[in-house]
Amino acid sequence: MILPVIVYPSPVLRQKSVAVSTGRLKSDSFQTMLGYLLDTATHHRAAGLAAIQVGVAERVLLALNTTSGKYVACINPEVLGLGGEPACLQEGCLSFPNMTANVYRNPEAMVRWTGMDGELVERTVTGFEAQIFQHELKHLFGKLLIDELPKQYRADFLARFHSLQRKAR
Ligand SMILES: [Zn+2]
Repeated sequence: MILPVIVYPSPVLRQKSVAVSTGRLKSDSFQTMLGYLLDTATHHRAAGLAAIQVGVAERVLLALNTTSGKYVACINPEVLGLGGEPACLQEGCLSFPNMTANVYRNPEAMVRWTGMDGELVERTVTGFEAQIFQHELKHLFGKLLIDELPKQYRADFLARFHSLQRKAR
């Protein structure tokens, strides 16, 4: 089932997501929610999607594995460290439809998460995958793309975004 993606400025996007317990992870309702999240990300061909973007305030994100072309479900993900020289990259977000912004991201991220079967995974991701993790992780803390933009650039970004939203109505 494809769920509606919550769009800025909904206050839902500012909520902090809570950790998923082992009991919750194994529950049918959680597995069903993961399935819906996957359907939604696939439908939008998203590079990543955080559960909070469909209104679920749990520490869950999907990140595209660029090698397999499949989504990896990451439960209780953490960035353990960032590496390399940050570079200014173009980035989009389903919560800001049809917009992109340039933000600084590290080319390497050491990440840890719990997989769908409850196994602990630790990996160093690079390039686009590192960018995806850095973006999606921020959602779990209620942070958004615009928070990383310098003041003037952010004002300009939001003006263009609101103008697009008005046209879409
Ligand atoms: Zn996003």
